[in-house]
Amino acid sequence: MRAIVIRRHGGPEVLEPTDLPRPEPAAGEALVRVAAVSVNAFLDVSNRAGAVPFARYDFPHVLGSEHAGRVEAYGPATDGPVPVGTDVVVRNTVFCGECDMCAAGTAEACRALGIIGVTRPGAYAEYTTVPVANLRALPAGCSPVDATAMAVNGPLGYGQLRSAGLDTTRTVLVQGAGSSSGSMVAIVAAALGRTVIGTARGTERAARLAGLPMYDAVVDSTAPDAVARIVELSGGGGVDVVIDNLAAPELWRIGMEALAPHGRLVTSGAKFGGTVEIDVRALYTLSKRVVGLRSAAAQDHDAFWSLVESAGVRALVDSVFPLEKVADAHRLIESGGNVGRVVLTI
Ligand SMILES: [Zn+2]
Repeated sequence: MRAIVIRRHGGPEVLEPTDLPRPEPAAGEALVRVAAVSVNAFLDVSNRAGAVPFARYDFPHVLGSEHAGRVEAYGPATDGPVPVGTDVVVRNTVFCGECDMCAAGTAEACRALGIIGVTRPGAYAEYTTVPVANLRALPAGCSPVDATAMAVNGPLGYGQLRSAGLDTTRTVLVQGAGSSSGSMVAIVAAALGRTVIGTARGTERAARLAGLPMYDAVVDSTAPDAVARIVELSGGGGVDVVIDNLAAPELWRIGMEALAPHGRLVTSGAKFGGTVEIDVRALYTLSKRVVGLRSAAAQDHDAFWSLVESAGVRALVDSVFPLEKVADAHRLIESGGNVGRVVLTI
């Protein structure tokens, strides 16, 4: 099969086209003919550079975590959840099924979590073998490109809003309005009828992103009156929820100050560092909360994909490249020039 491998960590030039034997599905696994794979800034691009601390693999390694395709076969004595030939989206996290978290029904917190493309071979290839529990039939009308663009960020975005408490959420502030995770949680929040405010760096970028349909407004986070603008847009009391997957100190301060009393800041990432200051007095006197969420729970996957079916939710897709142009796709993400997802088709 055609595939892209890395034989060492490095720049986009280490992504090397090659031919590999087609993998055989083991018992409990499916063989998936890959149709589309999203390029993930952390799990693919940072991974290629050797900057994912929990990566575990030998070289040569196949990257590619989020993918969609068609079930080609099942392993020996294996019943899959869908018939062979079904178009599917593949969940990228693999649960051990044995630890206390898995036993308690909270597998998303599995202590031995595996990730496709990070702890096992990925989807920059014509075929993958994945556990059958990771398969989900594509909703009607949703293409493999659409599905892979939402596969991680969609359920995660739903999970972030659920963790914050949907019942008490009217307004949501999304830090990094143009980022792939930020734009997706904004789309989910808008589909759920919430008011969505974004932030972006610079007046020009903020104005461009404000034109996207899921945002009611996008504020320039570098403006000295950014907090005042957000509070004003919230109706005067502050926002109910802040989604911050960036953990940049200045953005964190803006988010915490813009929160209403009893507001929740939810984080599932630390792209710009991870060490921030917290004004503890403001936190407890205004009963604010900070919520961390590693990945979506099973209920978030179910709720998100039914929203795809019922409300036509789709991710922003910036561009689509053929697999052989994977290095260009990585360069685009490293340049920060994309708004929404970059997807490879195979
Ligand atoms: Zn486990």
